[in-house]
Amino acid sequence: MLRGVLRVTSVLVVAWVLLVAGAAEGRAFGSVRPVPGPVVRGFDPPAQDWLPGHRGVDLAAPVGSRVRAAASGRVSVAQVIAGRGVVTIVHGELRTTYEPVRASVRVGQRVDAGDVIGTVEAGHCAAGCLHFGLKRGDEYLDPLGGSDVRLLPGSAVALARRLAAERAAALAAGGFEGSGSGVLLNPVGGPITSPFGRRFHPIFHEWRLHAGVDLRASCGTPIRAAADGVVRSVSYDSSGGHRLVIAHAGGLATHYLHALRRYQVRKGQRVKRGQVVGLVGSTGWSTGCHLHLGVTVNGRHVDPARYL
Ligand SMILES: [Zn+2]
Ligand SMILES: [Zn+2]
Repeated sequence: MLRGVLRVTSVLVVAWVLLVAGAAEGRAFGSVRPVPGPVVRGFDPPAQDWLPGHRGVDLAAPVGSRVRAAASGRVSVAQVIAGRGVVTIVHGELRTTYEPVRASVRVGQRVDAGDVIGTVEAGHCAAGCLHFGLKRGDEYLDPLGGSDVRLLPGSAVALARRLAAERAAALAAGGFEGSGSGVLLNPVGGPITSPFGRRFHPIFHEWRLHAGVDLRASCGTPIRAAADGVVRSVSYDSSGGHRLVIAHAGGLATHYLHALRRYQVRKGQRVKRGQVVGLVGSTGWSTGCHLHLGVTVNGRHVDPARYL
């Protein structure tokens, strides 16, 4: 047991050193921030469309500084709207918007993450800033990330540190060694298409941490409870879309993301292993239908593959 923990700890230390080295280099995480300045006004979407709010983030940027594409995509807007220059880039189902910007790209042009798309114009903040927005359909999302995904190099490193510490602590506390224990039922029966740990993000095209596994399943496939338990929460957020958490015995919890619509169970409801709780979808930050399954032990994320 102790040897196992030491081995895992040394692997985590090596991974951590690589991660820090990558972040310090400045390319691994940070190449897709449109301007390098700090956030001067955060994301504060209104509860209703007609109410005031802030549908993006403002990043400090002197007038004339270069603006870069946050992710690869195709320019859909590059024009002056109501007196301010606006650039919009389509990335699959998501769109990023940059304003006020004097565009150096044209509509229809393909851009890669980090490509210069224009320069900051005056008008949004007194001291100069870029308003950076993210939309999915009519919904405004936080362009600097929800609970699972972030653009900031600093926060990605902090998340990496936290997950590594949590994994080490979970191993030390419970010794969840071995894999494929079968404690949990695979909720959709599909193979793992993206494992737990660092991965190349499909939307933002950069390395990030993935606190669960993605299971292949077509849209509308029934999602089954992985074990007997009680529904802890049913919610919706911009990164996970329709999200469900089921608490099981032994401090274990399973997290289901991106369902097609609201789950068929409610908070406090008892569920049986194999019971259908919802349908596979692609809500939240997702590029196509799949189930993201997360597993926590006493609140710490662990690799679900060990339990399936
Ligand atoms: Zn703004
Ligand atoms: Zn996932």
